[in-house]
Amino acid sequence: MNGKLSPALFRRRLLAWFDKHGRKDLPWQRSRNPYRIWVSEIMLQQTQVSTVIPYYNRFLKRFANVKQLADAPIDEVLHHWTGLGYYARARNLHKAAKLIRDQHHGRFPKSLDALQALPGIGRSTAGAILAFAYSQRHPILDGNVKRVLTRLHAVDRWPGERETEKSLWEIAERYTPAQRVGDYTQAIMDLGATVCRRGQPRCELCPMTSHCVAYAEGDPARYPIAKQRKPLPDKQATMLLIRRDRHEVLLQRRPPTGIWGGLWSFPERPGNDINDLATWAREKLGLSIRITQALPVIPHTFSHFRLHIQPVTAELVGEPPVIMELPDSVWYKLEHPDSRGLAAPVQRLLQQMRKAQ
Ligand code: SF4
Repeated sequence: MNGKLSPALFRRRLLAWFDKHGRKDLPWQRSRNPYRIWVSEIMLQQTQVSTVIPYYNRFLKRFANVKQLADAPIDEVLHHWTGLGYYARARNLHKAAKLIRDQHHGRFPKSLDALQALPGIGRSTAGAILAFAYSQRHPILDGNVKRVLTRLHAVDRWPGERETEKSLWEIAERYTPAQRVGDYTQAIMDLGATVCRRGQPRCELCPMTSHCVAYAEGDPARYPIAKQRKPLPDKQATMLLIRRDRHEVLLQRRPPTGIWGGLWSFPERPGNDINDLATWAREKLGLSIRITQALPVIPHTFSHFRLHIQPVTAELVGEPPVIMELPDSVWYKLEHPDSRGLAAPVQRLLQQMRKAQ
């Protein structure tokens, strides 16, 4: 290893690498509009660039500015997010847009504190927005940057620990330049995403090898150190796919918080016991149904548990109720679906039902 890596040397190498290899034509890089940058930053949390691009383009086409987003119904926002996952991001985006409309006269805040006061915007996201939109000097510390810094300095502790995170912020602060801060911010994200990758870092392409402690140790993928994890607990749920006149299926809106909050899903009972489902439907939904089939179980992993979904198909029997009395319920037309946010397994099951028509 060659001596100490000074902040000036780090920046110089990183920016020289960025000028040659960095990404400069992503859709959100074509403007310095803070709204567009904000939407991209939120979408890019936990999601890769290639997945985000089509979602971003569709979202911006429908919600071109913060006012259009604030004025839109949440269902439509969730609909445009369907498939991206982590739906709290969409709900927070919508809440924050309303706050900007109502408390900031529709103008995007320009300070770190004001941005961080909005739902869904942490210190790193706020720093990135201000660096890209207004060239303000703020460090960022997203997953990519954490990976680069923990490897560069061989940080031997889990970066989520309070003290470790604090020292990573200090390193990030030291490295962040006053000049070309937008390019620097993009550069360090790009280095993490394309070279210092999670599984297989491509050290042979990296401008930092001569100063990287993890590289010198010979096993850079060891960093960042993982948290000691307990195995995820398993939970079971039964989803009832009730058809009316073959072409419609009952969907209910989930409560605003919790898993798939605010999205539309099938009526659901905890557990995987499929006995007495018809009685349950009569008592809970006020519907007479005939159970037709139990479909194969669908596993779905959340960050804190694994859900095993038992889908069961059923048909409405007797006179179908003309008006659905239950709140937040709808007979969803399989062939002519309207715009509403759907959880990924629900979307898959609806697709299966369409094919089986
Ligand atoms: S040398 Fe390898 S491990 Fe070190 S920062 Fe570069 S890509 Fe990451």
